[in-house]
Amino acid sequence: MSDRKIPLAAVIGSPIAHSRSPALHGYWLRRYGLAGYYVPMDVSQDDLADVIRAMPKMGFVGANVTIPHKEKVLALADLVTDRAALIGAANTLIFRKDGKIHADNTDGYGFTENLRTGAENWAPKAGPAAVFGAGGAARAVLASLLDIGVTEVRLSNRTRARADALQQEFGARIKVFDWVQAGNMLEGAMTVVNASSLGMVGKPEFRVPLDALSPKAVVTDLVYTPLETAFLAHAKEAGCSVVDGLGMLIYQAAPAFERWFGVRPEVDDEVRRVVLAA
Ligand code: NAP
Repeated sequence: MSDRKIPLAAVIGSPIAHSRSPALHGYWLRRYGLAGYYVPMDVSQDDLADVIRAMPKMGFVGANVTIPHKEKVLALADLVTDRAALIGAANTLIFRKDGKIHADNTDGYGFTENLRTGAENWAPKAGPAAVFGAGGAARAVLASLLDIGVTEVRLSNRTRARADALQQEFGARIKVFDWVQAGNMLEGAMTVVNASSLGMVGKPEFRVPLDALSPKAVVTDLVYTPLETAFLAHAKEAGCSVVDGLGMLIYQAAPAFERWFGVRPEVDDEVRRVVLAA
């Protein structure tokens, strides 16, 4: 019998029962015939530090981190990547063999890779981007758009103060618009993103006047339940390429899976089907 330890990984959050990450990583483990387990862990704020410090001793090679721990976990890491520091949150931890905890954020990678593969005509540097929402997901979107060289990112949020705070943090390439005038952000925009939670099952639709939207724009919604939100359906009617949010979830998971389990997993229709059914 082999005495090699079976690698374990987890997603840590609270609540966590809704997470599709166990289905996603579990599918990839089976598909590539790898020994390993990926489990959901419901951890309270008070227990977070103790749990994370104990995990490497229990055989965990890493973890995903989700709401409400994404920001707090940075303080528990020995090494924080530049992109996690810029976003101000981590979604991926790697427990290194030397005992150090490495924190990264792959949400921005998931976002851009989803658009790059989902819309062949995506030309993000050909014009401004328009982003709706100023929560945790919007931070990752802003950081990645700026990182790939978008020169102007227009931002609007129901609570304007949160958008203004992001403008202060991310700098002059961010231009804040009032929520009631959010339709004006679409003039000439090449990338349009709903990063608010509007449009999710159980929430009101995300509505913005699309008169100024160019058919050259690529439109995406981070919400993926439902897969085709009303916002995406309207953008499609306006002639735009649209990309749903499920791919972002899957692409952000791929680099983490590779670091923990040693295989870069493929993102294809089958994995989309598995995650949708979870
Ligand atoms: P969050 O930090 O809670 O932020 C929520 C955002 O939605 C805020 O900008 C909030 O505006 C806005 N919002 C909520 N209710 C609203 C309403 N009734 N009217 C107008 N604006 C409203 O959440 P998050 O983590 O950024 O996530 C945002 C969405 O992205 C969620 O649906 C999440 O599931 C999705 N997401 C998807 C992926 C993916 O991989 N596809 C990854 C991350 C997140 P205020 O500031 O005014 O409250």
